[in-house]
Amino acid sequence: MSEQRGDDVIRCSFCGRTAHEVTSMVAGPDVYICDRCIYDASGIVRNDLAAYQHTSPSSTRRSSTHRHRLTPREIKSALDEYVIGQERAKKALAVAVYNHYKRVEAQDYFHDYDGVELEKSNILLLGPTGTGKTLLARTLARILDVPFSISDATALTEAGYVGEDVESILSHLLHASDFNVERAERGIIYIDEIDKIARKADNASITRDVSGEGVQQALLKILEGTIAGVPPKGGRKHPEQSLINIDTRNILFICGGAFEGLTDIIAHRLSANTIGFFTEQTRRFDKNDPRTLQFVEPDDLLRFGLIPELIGRMPVITALDPLSDHAMKRILTEPKNALVKQYQKLFAMDGVDLLFEEEALEGVVKQAGELGTGARGLRSVMENTMLDIMFNIHEHPDIGVCRITSETVASGEEPIYEERKASA
Ligand code: ADP
Repeated sequence: MSEQRGDDVIRCSFCGRTAHEVTSMVAGPDVYICDRCIYDASGIVRNDLAAYQHTSPSSTRRSSTHRHRLTPREIKSALDEYVIGQERAKKALAVAVYNHYKRVEAQDYFHDYDGVELEKSNILLLGPTGTGKTLLARTLARILDVPFSISDATALTEAGYVGEDVESILSHLLHASDFNVERAERGIIYIDEIDKIARKADNASITRDVSGEGVQQALLKILEGTIAGVPPKGGRKHPEQSLINIDTRNILFICGGAFEGLTDIIAHRLSANTIGFFTEQTRRFDKNDPRTLQFVEPDDLLRFGLIPELIGRMPVITALDPLSDHAMKRILTEPKNALVKQYQKLFAMDGVDLLFEEEALEGVVKQAGELGTGARGLRSVMENTMLDIMFNIHEHPDIGVCRITSETVASGEEPIYEERKASA
């Protein structure tokens, strides 16, 4: 081969670089290949593999790391099928998740190719309750086909105190992956109510902050990547218990919280800044407007009571918007598993077409809005409205159409029933 060009210098048989120009060179019989060509070639092989797996029916069961990696745009459009609005958050999540799994692959295939270490992109979601934080995290896991678990930060306490050890969040994930440690190590964990473990400013130093800073410190280790001994059944660790080791380096953590009071801090900072761009915003947004959250900066979170190390471990921070009436109405009808679609399916199984008048949907949105729990209220209003109807409908076996009106929603009036047309 031509790796020796008469000058006795070892060259890569593929790109011609000399051994001095590359980090390492692998020798075969009469050939050499440099680390850069190995990097490129492995990319080609993996793309071919991904294309093959994409078309192979058996591919659906394979581990996600061996599948075609979805682009941010593909992730975003898959999210669109389930989550209404929240465009900014969906984009930020799509990119963060894409980069996260790229980083995981880089470790698998390229090791420390060029010394550039890709940092983990854990995510912090801020926003009022019922606006889709959990839904976003859950949907992402579904799209990527990785195990997913939810834990509540308020249940956690520092080791040695009453409550759950921080490691228990890993045992939830282990359960979600049927105790397949390898799968769990690529999963997504959603930690809810992260704002509730903020350090209390007035916490006197004589009393330990059991559920605040101590928990943040403990979470920090897991978020940045550690090998944690996890009690398989969750709860507290016992001395005689056998632990399962889980490497958290590649687990993606998404933390969420309403962060009540954070808008005060942000608005205060913005109003102190009297020049340029922000003055325009401060005129439009005030501390009572949840949309102010989108201007959050790490310093605001610090003031809120998160420790700087923890903030540093969540480099992607994105705020969700409160849902408008229009968005709430869309949530009722548009997502793949929208409530209206679910009820229609139930009724269809009894041979009944269930229809909602526009005003009826608007009525549901209005009542849900009064509950102040975001889209979460939609379900309880719908259940209230539909309960009697579902209870009674079997008394009328001839019904073919059930039309829900605004009066049905507002005052529990009977829906309009139409009889089933006799089949010819
Ligand atoms: P939180 O922001 O408090 O975590 P969730 O994600 O748990 O809120 O939302 C509660 C329920 O409300 C979800 O299960 C979903 O049905 C509905 N929901 C909330 N926000 C959206 C949204 N943006 N698009 C579609 N459904 C939503």
